[in-house]
Amino acid sequence: MPTERVPAPEGNDTLHPTTTFPSRSFAGQPVVHSAAGATMPALGLGTWRLDDQETERVTRQALDIGYRHIDTAQMYDNEAGVGRGVSAAGVDRSDVFITTKIANDCHEPEELVASVERSLEALDTDHLDLLLIHWPTDYDRIGATAAAMANVHAGGLTRHIGLSNFTIEQLDEVEHMAPFEVLQVECHPFLQQTELRRWCDERGWIFTAYSPIARGDVLHDDTIRDIAAAHRTEPTSVALAWLLAHGVAAIPKSGDADHLAANWGARSVQLTDDDLARIDDLDEGRRLIDPDSAPW
Ligand code: NAP
Repeated sequence: MPTERVPAPEGNDTLHPTTTFPSRSFAGQPVVHSAAGATMPALGLGTWRLDDQETERVTRQALDIGYRHIDTAQMYDNEAGVGRGVSAAGVDRSDVFITTKIANDCHEPEELVASVERSLEALDTDHLDLLLIHWPTDYDRIGATAAAMANVHAGGLTRHIGLSNFTIEQLDEVEHMAPFEVLQVECHPFLQQTELRRWCDERGWIFTAYSPIARGDVLHDDTIRDIAAAHRTEPTSVALAWLLAHGVAAIPKSGDADHLAANWGARSVQLTDDDLARIDDLDEGRRLIDPDSAPW
């Protein structure tokens, strides 16, 4: 919970947070850090394509298992389910890292702020942990959108802000427009995003992998299956362990209790240097999320 709430500044000249949030350690689970001070549980729950009711059930199940990081979005239409799931699990709100993302039609500053207020209400919380621009739509107006993100951050509505689905060229232009510190993009053994990961590493940004098990494709890869057999685990857990070993956060989605538990177990899979090198060799630029409006 914020210790103090002040209104968001009117202009774009005050970009420093005016709200102090207590720091958290997320004890007992792997975390990733940004240079600017964000701490995020490295393994989270994705919720895309879960409806509101399913999201409530799955959020609760995930929190019961031990997850403390939930990824939603305004466009998923399930933020209220996340809010009810957190409440039903009886976990302290301040112990959960909740990410949501600005919908593509909410980039105008006034609408962006209004959409964040709606997200907070749906999630039944007074602050987000991370707010992302979901896609770089209306990119010619990104300056105004970034300034609105900075103001939402400075006003204490979110601990951290970041970007999703931006290209390196766009990141180079946008990185100083607001105190962004997280990038979320598609990343898995078949689309390793080496350049974007390096870009984030050089700046101390957190890199989060979406579709981290390649939407199930890792189940069919011979190399990953072979490594999984050697470790007596699932191919999905090998893919997640590979990301964690590279210092990447991962947010696998599952609506299935057994899969949730299996994915959570990936934290204890210790891949060898040889395993990591064999998976590093699987990159083939296989992109699974590729809408016509994408910037690449
Ligand atoms: P994903 O997590 O790579 O894969 C999800 C699929 O894998 C589902 O069909 C799920 O089915 C299955 N699965 C999960 N665990 C499994 C296991 N242990 N064994 C077998 N199958 C398993 O794909 P994703 O949902 O595209 O990505 C994850 C999250 O990233 C999303 O939910 C969303 O939160 C986020 N995301 C963000 C963006 C963005 O634009 N920023 C785009 C895409 C995704 P079951 O449900 O049956 O387990």
